[in-house]
Amino acid sequence: MEYIIVGGGLAGIAAARELERHKKDYLLMEAGPCLGGRVGSDFENGFILDHGFQIILDSYPELNSRLNLEELDMRPFRKSAILMKNYRCYCLWKAKDLYLAWKDGLFCLSDVIPFVRLAFRILGKDPEGLMNRDNTSVASQLKELGFSKEIRQSFWNPFLAGIFLDNTLSVSGGMLMFVLRMLWDGTACVPKGGMKVLVDRLAESIPTDKIRLNSEVRSVNSGSVTLSDKQELCAKKVILCLDIFNAHRVMGVVAPPPGMGCTTLYFKAPKSPVSEPALIINSEDEGLLNHLAVMSDVSESYAPEGQALIAATVLGTSSWGDNQDQCKNVLELCKKWFGDEVKQWKLIKTSRILNAHPANTPDAFALKIKNFRVSPQIFIAGDYLESPSIQSALRMGRLAAVEALQAKD
Ligand SMILES: Cc1cc2nc3c(=O)[nH]c(=O)nc-3n(C[C@H](O)[C@H](O)[C@H](O)COP(=O)(O)OP(=O)(O)OC[C@H]3O[C@@H](n4cnc5c(N)ncnc54)[C@H](O)[C@@H]3O)c2cc1C
Repeated sequence: MEYIIVGGGLAGIAAARELERHKKDYLLMEAGPCLGGRVGSDFENGFILDHGFQIILDSYPELNSRLNLEELDMRPFRKSAILMKNYRCYCLWKAKDLYLAWKDGLFCLSDVIPFVRLAFRILGKDPEGLMNRDNTSVASQLKELGFSKEIRQSFWNPFLAGIFLDNTLSVSGGMLMFVLRMLWDGTACVPKGGMKVLVDRLAESIPTDKIRLNSEVRSVNSGSVTLSDKQELCAKKVILCLDIFNAHRVMGVVAPPPGMGCTTLYFKAPKSPVSEPALIINSEDEGLLNHLAVMSDVSESYAPEGQALIAATVLGTSSWGDNQDQCKNVLELCKKWFGDEVKQWKLIKTSRILNAHPANTPDAFALKIKNFRVSPQIFIAGDYLESPSIQSALRMGRLAAVEALQAKD
């Protein structure tokens, strides 16, 4: 065989698509029962439950150049958000609510200037280049841009913590510029039929006989891989498309710092508490909840007719000790926001993900491997090489395959 790709997440799928485009002989090996890695959906009793709350930015350059996004039947979120503060709801797209938010001290008039500064930094620049431009943290970037303490506490901190799955905002500032540029250029969406539709569309050009599921690779040597059942498969080149933790386990690629964990609690309800396809951000100084979205307001397919699906996300892993306490804490806050109707919400699934994102601090960023080729016959890819995102996983997978194709045997 010419190539073996190990790992069938988005990076592995992107690598396989590139090899397929060049009509190469390859095998895509995935440890789990399906492709997609961290992206996927479960379908239970008429509900679509994504593997954690995830969105696609329809401006991701890598996605746009590889797929016709219209085929995903994308359902957009509002290009704005709802802030919950002092148990009241501020819909940021409504002029009256914006005025009230200012009067209630959620931001200052002087915050207009940093927004202008930000626009100058991100507009007219190559979006992918923005990611590599900075080695300070998101928190220090926001301060340096001059945003007031008020707007940072009420909006930026919880909003960005939800994107980066990091309450401390110690993520690399380049990622901030890239994400804000993507939000400027496009819209946050989910496919009508759930995030798994993205995986299915990307994978449909890979012939099934070139995919081997339930096949865990234990070790990689030059020119071969050994499976957990001790079977050995030979290939001229191996492309490892693993998450950083398995990449480290299988072949010792950089020892990773702990990743970012999160929990998404899925509730079914007789109706939506807001009837808006908007991200609802917790700006209170209380509660474990970071953000919430009524998925059935974004795409009606997420819940059976006459019901609503609510996805509530808690960041970190410190509240994982007691499932019930975590759920109780979230529901208590929601009751203060939406009243007694919350008593009818029923928890239908708890989606806990230990290493949802690899750590992406400026230090980790500085350590980034710049080369896909780690030995004459072994290549690596995965989101950890650039940023924890669908965009980077796809880009890194494709570029690793391009390098493997060009490399002399
Ligand atoms: C809860 C959550 C929310 C997120 N939100 C967003 C978002 O809103 N927007 C966004 O752009 N990104 C988001 N992301 C990040 C994005 O999903 C990931 O960056 C991306 O999917 C990573 O793809 P990957 O292929 O690099 O890694 P993975 O998806 O981790 O793929 C690695 C694959 O390798 C397989 N594997 C592991 N070990 C072996 C082995 N030994 N042998 C064979 N196979 C093996 C795994 O089973 C897996 O399928 C989110 C992620 C999570 C979990």
